[in-house]
Amino acid sequence: MRASRLVITIDGPSGAGKSTLARLLALRLGIPYLDTGALYRTVAAEVIRRRIDIEDDDQLESLCRNLDIRIQWIEDRLLVLSSGRDVSQEIRSERVGQMASCISAKAAVRRALLGLQRQIVAKNGAILEGRDTGTVVAPDAHVKFYLDARAEERGLRRFRELQEQGMDVQLESVIRSMYQRDRQDRERDLAPLRPAPDAVLIDTTDKSIADVMEEMIRHVRKRIHVEV
Ligand code: C5P
Repeated sequence: MRASRLVITIDGPSGAGKSTLARLLALRLGIPYLDTGALYRTVAAEVIRRRIDIEDDDQLESLCRNLDIRIQWIEDRLLVLSSGRDVSQEIRSERVGQMASCISAKAAVRRALLGLQRQIVAKNGAILEGRDTGTVVAPDAHVKFYLDARAEERGLRRFRELQEQGMDVQLESVIRSMYQRDRQDRERDLAPLRPAPDAVLIDTTDKSIADVMEEMIRHVRKRIHVEV
């Protein structure tokens, strides 16, 4: 198997370490990394900017029909363009994250982004990271992971991540917003957050990134024959 055709999924709640590990694994295997949350966040940013009423299906459908999202890695930075506008920074705010969680429960949004994600994966394979990549987007993925960690630890990681991005945030409100988002993601009817039955479950609490990375690599080697 050529590593370039590999499809690996990494799902789990926020702050479980998915993005960091997906990026490292993609580098190690030399395949693209798709941050699927960035797509939902971009739709959310458009909803906010255009003041769309998310309870109005016609408005949402119309937005989804006309989406023009492009994503590209420039060295270590993910560039996200929405209709040519650079939204890379804007989509990282808590407000956009909350809105992403609300609109991701809507059928029109999931349908539009499912098509886009599958197109991207079909080209070169990918490491997909998100909430439903192993259950819905790529149910035939070669290897599936589900990462989780203790809630307090996830809250702290998320807080540090936002601080590193230069955002002015309060630990308490980051934790509150994370709990709310995770509950919404788990309880929604469409593509709820849950491990695929064949996913490898890893609890990343108290583990270093390097240790989790080695654990993931061991599973990749066990399931498929690639030189890594
Ligand atoms: O991963 P991130 O925190 O950027 O995702 C933002 C939101 O997008 C999540 O809270 C979730 O509601 C939604 N999402 C999703 N399915 C995915 C990825 C993200 O519903 N595959």
